[in-house]
Amino acid sequence: MTCPFLREAAVKYCETAAFRKLIPLAAAGRADEKCDSAAHGDCPVFRLQNQEAGSGGCPYLRESLMQYCGAAPVARFVPYSESLLSRCGNDGFRYCELYLQMAHPEPFASDTSAIAAPDWLRYSANHMWLDATDDGSCHVGIDAFLSRALGEVDAISYVWERGRHRPAVVLTTAGLDVEVVFPNPLLLTNCNRYLRADPSKLSSDPYTGGWLFEGTPVEGSLDGLMSGAEARAWMEEEQRRINEFLQSWPSPENVPAMCDGGLFAAGVLRQIGRSQGLALVHEFFSPYANGKRDPQ
Ligand code: SF4
Repeated sequence: MTCPFLREAAVKYCETAAFRKLIPLAAAGRADEKCDSAAHGDCPVFRLQNQEAGSGGCPYLRESLMQYCGAAPVARFVPYSESLLSRCGNDGFRYCELYLQMAHPEPFASDTSAIAAPDWLRYSANHMWLDATDDGSCHVGIDAFLSRALGEVDAISYVWERGRHRPAVVLTTAGLDVEVVFPNPLLLTNCNRYLRADPSKLSSDPYTGGWLFEGTPVEGSLDGLMSGAEARAWMEEEQRRINEFLQSWPSPENVPAMCDGGLFAAGVLRQIGRSQGLALVHEFFSPYANGKRDPQ
């Protein structure tokens, strides 16, 4: 699927000009009549080619089909082949900042009793998601469970931005550095730099604008991940487990205030003490948490 804002246009350009100026055919008018007629013989660029001018249009005038982003304030034309390689020509458009700003897709909000877990994503047991699309690209982020536990994130530091690695990021909340590591390797091509300036999307849109890494799957990238009914059942069990974990802490008198209906309170890691927070991170979000899950 391609981005709904991706447009196409036929353009003209001069093959010999040092600077390739693209003119959409719909907008072509007086300025380029010279190229289309015998007047091209007066063109200084044509004269440099040492050719006789013919009676028709210039032989160096070319036409091509280009694509451009209809949501961008200034159209930048790109050849078809390039746009298909970028996120505009595949399902990756769902993670484009411009698309998200213009289309305002519905966020996948958790309700008062259940954490949202979109069906098309695959989840690791330490609460990260991977979206692998048919065109061979993928995105990685944290799920709504981890996002809710963190609450407001103060800073983001990417451990890796490119290359073949297990995607890893340090999320800082209330002075606690939470290192989150996706359990499988990927060929990383990009990370979400917008989040460094404004991490709020990690809390408000963990499944879209709050994505963390972009890349290409390699052997083993999808190993051990959950999806569909299995993921939903696991998420329910995780909700039960975290409530039990919080209630079992040596100072449970704080816990009722932290619960919101059936769900643990948003930003619970900001509300409990450091040692309790570290234990919670270790139990639910560390690579150890991922290893604890029995293979199905
Ligand atoms: S830049 Fe973004 S909004 Fe524009 S066409 Fe590409 S994916 Fe769509």
